[in-house]
Amino acid sequence: MSIDRSKIRWNGWGWSAHEDRLAGQEEVWSWLASELGMPALLATPARPLESIVLAPSRLTVEDRARFVQILGAERVRDDQYERAFHARGRSYHDLLHLRAGDLSTAPDAVLFPRSTDDVVATLAAAIEGRIAVVPYGGGTSVVGGVTGHRGTFKTVVSMDLSGMDRVIELDAQSMTATVEAGITGPGLEKALAANGFTLGHHPQSFEFSTLGGWIAHRGAGQGSNRYGRADDWLVGAKLATPRGVLRTGGFPASSSGPRLNDLVLGSEGIFGIITEATVRLHPLPAASDYRGYLFRDFADGIATLHDAAHSEIAVTMLRLSDPVETKFYRAFGALGKKRGVADRVAQFYLDTRGYDDKACALIAGFEGDSAAVAAARVQFDALAKKHGALALGEGQGRRWKEGRFHGPYLRDPMLDRGVGVDTLETATSWSRLETLYVAVRETLEGAIRENAPRAGARGVVTCHVSHSYRDGASLYFTYIFPRALDGEIEQWRTIKKAASDAIVANGGTISHHHGIGEDHLPWMAAEKGSLGIDVLRAVKMALDPNGILNPGKLIPD
Ligand SMILES: Cc1cc2nc3c(=O)[nH]c(=O)nc-3n(C[C@H](O)[C@H](O)[C@H](O)COP(=O)(O)OP(=O)(O)OC[C@H]3O[C@@H](n4cnc5c(N)ncnc54)[C@H](O)[C@@H]3O)c2cc1C
Repeated sequence: MSIDRSKIRWNGWGWSAHEDRLAGQEEVWSWLASELGMPALLATPARPLESIVLAPSRLTVEDRARFVQILGAERVRDDQYERAFHARGRSYHDLLHLRAGDLSTAPDAVLFPRSTDDVVATLAAAIEGRIAVVPYGGGTSVVGGVTGHRGTFKTVVSMDLSGMDRVIELDAQSMTATVEAGITGPGLEKALAANGFTLGHHPQSFEFSTLGGWIAHRGAGQGSNRYGRADDWLVGAKLATPRGVLRTGGFPASSSGPRLNDLVLGSEGIFGIITEATVRLHPLPAASDYRGYLFRDFADGIATLHDAAHSEIAVTMLRLSDPVETKFYRAFGALGKKRGVADRVAQFYLDTRGYDDKACALIAGFEGDSAAVAAARVQFDALAKKHGALALGEGQGRRWKEGRFHGPYLRDPMLDRGVGVDTLETATSWSRLETLYVAVRETLEGAIRENAPRAGARGVVTCHVSHSYRDGASLYFTYIFPRALDGEIEQWRTIKKAASDAIVANGGTISHHHGIGEDHLPWMAAEKGSLGIDVLRAVKMALDPNGILNPGKLIPD
């Protein structure tokens, strides 16, 4: 297997051995308390697994024996660690439950198939035993996509694909690879790099998420401008359903009716289990150039992204922070460092040239062959400067790239100190982007204030635009707030609902790349329409008539 679950935190983010760099840095915590309008931050440690009593597994002896016969005893696990690990995904909401010791959604067992045949046989056994099956890739869902709901079934098992992580075929001439769906980001990229290729799909959850998960929730990596979203790079998939194996796509292009690939992309494990996928590759880039820019305000930055999306400039990534995000991370990064004369001169220079409180940072990335990268950089530089940007050089870009997967590791130390941190994201057309941005920001700020644990407490709401298209762009909000410790799930739900209502009311999609899971279900009908939901239900009926796959996700009741 490409990943050893026992080395990963069951109730937080990342490797258990990862050191909490922030612990003990009192300066950080007192600064954060004052940003949040709190006199101090409280210690709120998570409950250790040993102190939690897990309900006994409901898997019957007969059902267990059936699974063992198919998979072997070591691939049917019902020990406390595996069940707890697979109880939920890794959203803020999930972590609130896990850290409080609420393991009511722990599956009764975790199954580790090794092949498509294993999956098909296991699904048949699950139907026979009336057992719900939750497909599980890396479990990094942030929308409640892998919560172990049993629905109307007496038992629920998690089907963990991490044992299916082989590269089956690499077609160098066509630049495609056929790969098992449980491979993680690092496992896949290592295998491809050995042959001179890359898929280039790097979500922030890259270390732990899997190819199957990327496709099942229709995700986007950080370099989506160059490498595309899952929609763009998926050639075809093998979907093991309770009705048999469905093969989709497989051609560079085709006009043979609607694309069945679109039933796999975004299917979130409710139609079948993706066991293999063929994906489009790129040559490993010979050159990579990431650098920073500063704009006087958000509007100038957005105008640059807009013009870049309508130009021929070959960018890999453009990530524009709003003024709050720019200021917050600058202040955070400066904590503990002495401000010297050079820093003060630099600040004076920026202020006098109009890069003040409203300034916005942008990271631009270019990858490809050396000549193309050099040309794109020069073209983008000219475009950014046309909109008043100050070029900050490669240092900013290098630091961003080095730390591109580290952000999530900051969440657990915050949760240990009574601080909540959640994210949500959306996308809309260029013409609606600013209205949507203002509406969601104001709604979040208001909802956090109204649901704060004490008068005067507030949140920090940051936003960046990180995926842009010819017709529009995404908005990604991170909000940090003091938790109402006597009702933190309700606080989360109220803030989430207010923001999601604002997204829908202002022309945004309920999710640009996190998916639906159970958390976004209430807004699904508004986006798809009742006929659209009926179509999805009909597909579900055709592929999973007994409804065993991932109950309670994607399609509203
Ligand atoms: C810190 C953090 C950062 C993130 N950053 C990004 C980002 O930059 N871009 C992005 O797109 N997403 C991001 N996400 C969201 C999440 O990581 C992605 O949704 C990820 O692609 C999920 O992959 P996974 O393998 O972990 O899937 P899981 O979480 O295991 O599953 C996700 C959904 O897909 C289903 N599923 C999983 N595998 C299969 C399969 N083989 N067949 C059928 N169904 C399956 C599950 O049942 C579930 O509904 C982030 C999440 C976190 C926690």
